[in-house]
Amino acid sequence: MTSPLRHPLVTKPDHDVVVIGTGFSGIGMGIALKKAGMDDFVILEKADTVGGTWRDNHYPGCACDVQSHLYSYSFEPNPDWSRMYSPQPEIRAYIERTAKKYGVLPHIRFGVALTGAHFEDDLGLWRLTTAKGETITARAVVSGMGALSIPAYPNIEGRESFKGKTFHSQDWDHDYDLAGKTVAVIGTGASAIQFVPQIAKTAARVELFQRTAPWVMPKPDRAIGTLERAANRYIPGFQRSFRELIYWYLEARVLGFVIRPSLMSKLEGMARRYIAKHIKDPELRAKVTPDYTIGCKRILLSNDYYQALARPNVDVITTGIARITEKGVVTTDGVEHAVDAIIYGTGFKATDMLSGFSITGVGGADLNARWKEDGAQAYLGTTTTGFPNLYFLMGPNTGLGHSSMVYMIESQIHYVMEALKLMKARGYHHMDVKPEVQADFNRKLAGKLDGTVWNNGGCLSWYRDDKGRNVTLWPDFTFRFGHATAKINAADYVATKTADLAARQKAAPLAAE
Ligand code: NAP
Repeated sequence: MTSPLRHPLVTKPDHDVVVIGTGFSGIGMGIALKKAGMDDFVILEKADTVGGTWRDNHYPGCACDVQSHLYSYSFEPNPDWSRMYSPQPEIRAYIERTAKKYGVLPHIRFGVALTGAHFEDDLGLWRLTTAKGETITARAVVSGMGALSIPAYPNIEGRESFKGKTFHSQDWDHDYDLAGKTVAVIGTGASAIQFVPQIAKTAARVELFQRTAPWVMPKPDRAIGTLERAANRYIPGFQRSFRELIYWYLEARVLGFVIRPSLMSKLEGMARRYIAKHIKDPELRAKVTPDYTIGCKRILLSNDYYQALARPNVDVITTGIARITEKGVVTTDGVEHAVDAIIYGTGFKATDMLSGFSITGVGGADLNARWKEDGAQAYLGTTTTGFPNLYFLMGPNTGLGHSSMVYMIESQIHYVMEALKLMKARGYHHMDVKPEVQADFNRKLAGKLDGTVWNNGGCLSWYRDDKGRNVTLWPDFTFRFGHATAKINAADYVATKTADLAARQKAAPLAAE
């Protein structure tokens, strides 16, 4: 009889934990594992440096729209932020520095793109496959792939026929000089409102194709001077108190988004006055004034967007796009807008977060298919029934319209560590969230989402999938998420003990091969 123990997977996978990605999520997860002395982990990164979205997005003007004191790890304050809302290079450098400081870099394998993750029922292990055909096994997998990492290109007829230069905001080609060029920009979301003011300074013309006007508010940004940086560094509690202040100020916004959407009208009045202040032309003002409730789509912050739109070399085109030709963009009124370049500021596949990555769980269940059918669902945005020991950071319904994602990421990392520690303490090999627990959680979530401005504000947004389900946002105060993830409830999970798994494998050794 074949001994199951001769099969290397039975006794020991390649790694106890595989973490995917090196953005705030993956690096934060690596740091938590190291702090807990759980050193048997690897972080797989498809690129050759760390940074996640802050490595991939480097378009002109790229900066965070959440204050840096809060958009950073709670355990690693940076006294040297140069501005309240830091530019991308500083955030990227912060992630790189933090990864190095906490000794995570030796755990990273760069240039490893994963194509799939498959749960081997008999072995209770995950078998990951890479684009180069390698197989890596692990007991637990933590995805830090991010919700906004796969560029979305619009499905416009003739898109491939354009003969000029094209790129997506995430794949900015800095070698292409826009000076003196006529440039079409498609999209007016969070990315476009940051790069349009920059390119408008040098391009001969910017033809900005707007499908839906965003609500834009002033960004309370300012430089942080040397004195204040010194205070951050040397006065105990100074920076932490500031962080707390920002946290509670942003948290108060939940009142408008979720609890009393009628409060949004005050904000809307401010936003209308902001448009009036910077856009004098009534026709342009009408074009850029949204026709849905503020907050339904992400509220954008900018101190130079409206000013850029008012420039003589910028056209805001609201007529729909019919097709793209060799020369440029044809609108539904038949006008061809000839351009040298088309830049897609068309966002990411947020509701289709697994696209390009196949995940199969217990009994071969396909997570892509399930999420397409039922909408992306998880328990606490982190675990999914039928997919034991698979954890998502920034998973379904953990996104925010009002505060820092780093808070959510840290809460989830804490929860994953709770799970790993629980398994170790109780001799569990793997744990699978109970279907009824997940269903109950999502039922309550859907109830809360029903009343929000995101679902009722009269807009279409990437917050909702093609069936109108809001699978991206957390509809509550973030501290409630923090509380919910602070402790793991063992009763929420079906656990398989390592001893039981070994006994099962011993009884059916061939199945283990
Ligand atoms: P986005 O907010 O999803 O905006 C995409 C834009 O493209 C929208 O204006 C959309 O119009 C337009 N669009 C899409 N398909 C189109 C089509 N077929 N024809 C015409 N227009 C089309 O994407 P994003 O600006 O890249 O931002 C995505 C998210 O990234 C943000 O919401 C935010 O969470 C994050 N982000 C964060 C920061 C930060 O500072 N933290 C900065 C940038 C981005 P519709 O509105 O009509 O759909």
